[in-house]
Amino acid sequence: MTTVDQSAVNPLDNIRIVLVNTSHPGNIGAVARAMKNMCLSQLYLVEPRKYPHDEATWRAASADDVLNSAVVCETLDEAIADCQLVIGTSARERTVPWPLLDPRHCMERGYAEAAAGHKIALVFGREDRGLTNEELQRCNLHVHIPANPEYSSLNIAMAVQVLAYEVRMQHLSGELNNNDMADWDVPVAGAQDLERYLVHLEETLRDINFLRPEAPKKLMTRLRRLYQRTRLDEMEVNILRGILTSTQYWVRKAKADESSEAGGTAAPNSGVDGAE
Ligand code: SAH
Repeated sequence: MTTVDQSAVNPLDNIRIVLVNTSHPGNIGAVARAMKNMCLSQLYLVEPRKYPHDEATWRAASADDVLNSAVVCETLDEAIADCQLVIGTSARERTVPWPLLDPRHCMERGYAEAAAGHKIALVFGREDRGLTNEELQRCNLHVHIPANPEYSSLNIAMAVQVLAYEVRMQHLSGELNNNDMADWDVPVAGAQDLERYLVHLEETLRDINFLRPEAPKKLMTRLRRLYQRTRLDEMEVNILRGILTSTQYWVRKAKADESSEAGGTAAPNSGVDGAE
């Protein structure tokens, strides 16, 4: 197991901007420019509609280095797989409320974690319809720029600018005392580990017949929100997966015994090592 990396990496290099399915290449260029103005350089593009594109290069102006080093991904999961803190942006309220911060408090927290070695993703949605509920539920927390309630949707590059500015202010203020997980003994689990755990949980809940067609529709969403909020570390994820593996073993064995009276084999190790 790796240890928490608190080395002298520039915290700004641990903060990535993720743009999902952006339609207008000019906006991608403008985002690169907004980032470079605030000393951010990690740009991830999930399924951009038109990229690379002259319009993007033109709008990036002298931030073409940020643009040219952008990582293009096929899915949001791929873009955030190694991130320990995923922050989704939203121009409006959604059906199931999620932990929601304003840009200043959000970036206080995000910057402090970046300074402690965590990788942070700031996820931005499509120009016409933002992020889907499913995408927003991949996030630990949400941030909303408190704009005019009657006209709250900013241009995407402007939204990036506001958040990047708050990151910059944190960087300049040098305040690093806002991270309650700075001295944690085990690395915080990345988004991919949590996603695997949630798939395993859903499967187990079906096995034990807890998740039935008549179960409340939002059950998995609520569980997802619980785990996103909790910020599990890698060992906690392993322990929970071990519990699921053991639960599945016994419930499957009980079902098999019931139908055929067949003898069983030894139970798998339900501890940390048996989590996979
Ligand atoms: N019509 C869309 C708005 C999309 S604006 C909707 O209703 O969701 C494009 C993106 O810019 C958003 O997905 C979000 O990433 C960002 N954005 C725009 N306004 C914002 C605001 N007030 N707070 C946070 N992010 C915002």
